[in-house]
Amino acid sequence: MDFDLLIHNGILVTVDRTQRIIPNGWIGIQGGVIQAIEPAWPNQAPPGAGTCVDAAGGLVMPGLVNSHTHLPMSLFRGLADDLPLISWLNDHIFPAEARFIEPETVYWATRLACSEMLLSGTTCCCGGYFHEDTVAVAVAETGLRAVLAQGVIDFPAPGVPDPLHNVTHAREFTRRWKEQHRLVTPSIFCHAPYTCSDRTLTAAKAAADELNLLFQVHVAETRFERDQSISRTGHSPVAHLERLNLLDRRTLMAHCIWLDDRDIAIIANRGCAVAHCPESNMKLASGIAPLTRLLAAGVTVGLGTDGCASNNNLDLFGEMATAAKLHKLASGDPTALDAARVIQMATRDGARAIGMADRIGSLETGKQADIIVLDTRAPHLTPLYHPQSHLVYAAGGADVRHVFVAGQALVRDRNLLTVDIDQVIDRVNAIAADIRSNQHQKSIRQD
Ligand SMILES: [Zn+2]
Repeated sequence: MDFDLLIHNGILVTVDRTQRIIPNGWIGIQGGVIQAIEPAWPNQAPPGAGTCVDAAGGLVMPGLVNSHTHLPMSLFRGLADDLPLISWLNDHIFPAEARFIEPETVYWATRLACSEMLLSGTTCCCGGYFHEDTVAVAVAETGLRAVLAQGVIDFPAPGVPDPLHNVTHAREFTRRWKEQHRLVTPSIFCHAPYTCSDRTLTAAKAAADELNLLFQVHVAETRFERDQSISRTGHSPVAHLERLNLLDRRTLMAHCIWLDDRDIAIIANRGCAVAHCPESNMKLASGIAPLTRLLAAGVTVGLGTDGCASNNNLDLFGEMATAAKLHKLASGDPTALDAARVIQMATRDGARAIGMADRIGSLETGKQADIIVLDTRAPHLTPLYHPQSHLVYAAGGADVRHVFVAGQALVRDRNLLTVDIDQVIDRVNAIAADIRSNQHQKSIRQD
């Protein structure tokens, strides 16, 4: 059989159920789908294909899945750092969003975020923000796969001046994008139980259920949020959401740091997934999610970067290293969260968390050809004893050489094929100049 695309001469880290690694193998792709994964035999040429990609002995793995991010926040990278979550949000991020988030800025910031993700090996992301139609158009143009949601919050937001219409606005987004584009799947995202009323949360979940879509929400990110929830409702944020009947297999909760044993049991029993964002949690000193306990309870956990303003990058290789090291330190156990498990979180479990387990997350026949190839001919990746160890502890996003989504090449030899990156950088820098001068004027007024 001839293929459209053949990737050969690579070490295949399949992340399938058995964590199979093929030391020298090839992958045959037809119609954007993986049709064959085979070891190469000596003196036997690989099969023919329209396009042959020589992985040059490098590592080949499923594209990474960023299970929690806010793409246009790349605009605010480094704008306000070294602050606690509440003042970071209320004094810096929310005002900057109110002033500068509009379709034009969202478009360029999303293209920037997609460029950064593709160049560092992320082929699918999940999240939500405002002006999401523009986000979806920008994502679709880059060829990245995504689950995207129009954000719901109970105060005036960019593009939704009247919060009474927030759920309607989000529902209309899902109707416009449902089965509209092969790579964009719509979703509903409520910001958090502390910024959305019970009524808003319930209506938003109902809107997601109407079309069988993923419902996303930030939960138990800070101790303050948990304490406030207990004093206001008598329940933890997780228990409160359960009482509202919002937790099921189509619910993805970001952060989940301040959990007690009962919360973990609820999440496991309801089959909800968690998006773990260790770098954002560390930077905002929000706390350490009880990851090993969540995993022991059988909860599906994906890995996320969160928005760029609290990370401050979208490189999931860095996030994998951080996750592995953080939970070893937190548990005092160097065997906690081994490399293979972290890779699984960033690929197949992330795919499961966002409702895409049947399509992506591993190199297996029948799955979409979302594949990345890393160049291992570099000092920091030499020698190579254990591929999974290198992927978590030694490699970085900059080692990604080729990226394919549904069999389409989006990065070849570290060059983006669907984005004019110089144009994107120039446009974002021009918008940032406005943000900088606005900040400057504000500081003069305060003096
Ligand atoms: Zn977030």
